[in-house]
Amino acid sequence: MSNILAIVGRPNVGKSTLYNRLTETRKAIVDDQSGVTRDRHYGIAEWTHKSFTVIDTGGYVANSEDVFEKAIREQVHIAIEEANVVLFMVDVTTGITDLDADIAQILRKSTKPVYVAVNKVDNHQLQSDATEFYSLGLGEIYCLSSMSGSGTGELLDAVITHF
Ligand code: GDP
Ligand code: MG
Repeated sequence: MSNILAIVGRPNVGKSTLYNRLTETRKAIVDDQSGVTRDRHYGIAEWTHKSFTVIDTGGYVANSEDVFEKAIREQVHIAIEEANVVLFMVDVTTGITDLDADIAQILRKSTKPVYVAVNKVDNHQLQSDATEFYSLGLGEIYCLSSMSGSGTGELLDAVITHF
């Protein structure tokens, strides 16, 4: 496979909402893997006539906090390996959490392009709150609302320059 975008981030930031929006009405690829890779969904998306694979990571079923955070970090490492572009999703309503900072630390070492998507920016007022995510040290941030779809176009325009 080529042209792969992986969406990573901690639970509840809105990864699956974006994944469903991007892959809407498109055929999902059957995933017959096991273990941590079973916790991933593969779908096909299209933007300005370019097709690409989107990976949604994580229901992160785990029985303790430690295992849970380990699973998330593992998903991030797999994403860096497997994807051409990594989308790191964070949540403007919570700001930067410890787990966000952990994930950012892993991603800063990646040689693959990483895009920071600040989700749940549902209105203009929240736009200024989003600037704190520059401190993750991953460059430009893209504000969006996965729920309404606003801002996703600018992000995808940037992402598909790699495809
Ligand atoms: P995931 O765990 O990262 O896959 O997150 P989900 O996609 O399951 O979303 C977690 C929660 O955030 C759900 O209740 C979504 O409806 C909500 N959510 C997702 N995107 C947005 C958004 O753009 N704005 C707001 N306000 N809520 C959102
Ligand atoms: Mg999800």
